Amino acid sequence: MDGREVYRGARDPRYTHANVYWLYSEDLERVGLSEHSKEDQADFRVLWFRETDFGTYLQEDGWERGEDIWSSLPRPIFDRFVNEGWTTPKAFLEQCLYGPMRVVTPSMLRKMPNVFVCQTCGRRSLSPQTWCRSVEEPLDFPTTEKLFFVDDDMIVYRPPPTSRVWDLLRPQQKPSPSDGSRGPEQVQEPRPQEQTAPPEAETSPPQPPEPPQ
Ligand SMILES: [Zn+2]
Repeated sequence: MDGREVYRGARDPRYTHANVYWLYSEDLERVGLSEHSKEDQADFRVLWFRETDFGTYLQEDGWERGEDIWSSLPRPIFDRFVNEGWTTPKAFLEQCLYGPMRVVTPSMLRKMPNVFVCQTCGRRSLSPQTWCRSVEEPLDFPTTEKLFFVDDDMIVYRPPPTSRVWDLLRPQQKPSPSDGSRGPEQVQEPRPQEQTAPPEAETSPPQPPEPPQ
């Protein structure tokens, strides 16, 4: 398939949205899957595991694994975040909401978190604040220079130049009646509801291929 020699396993009964078959290499390593329409078996697409979770999710080659994010931060910030336990991507991001820095994980590409902004005190949080009058807003990305693609271990990944990841980061903008300066050319298209990840991405980020048992 796609010019590759692969073996197709039996249909995986866990998936009901389509007929899903895992694909295996000659060494019986799981390398991808084929997803066939239930109405028309000939209507199918093939998804391959890539070297990184970002590459698998976006079905892109060329994502590069770098160092962990801590090595690019000043030591006092590292100490503070570790001491406070802000070491998961979500806890890290929560601390960044007042500044331009952002971290994005593969699962956030699938479902981007919203920010709750208090209209009274200006407090920003990834979770609703019951004591504040907060308004839910899409997460913004003030600058790509301080945007880091990370996995759950805070390892940083660099996208290939042609990556479509940037399209997924555009917040859905609603035309605002109070903002007359915004012309129609600045109203961005809604995020496409594409599903390019393997089916298990419904509940978790794509997993790397399992070693043969
Ligand atoms: Zn408040």
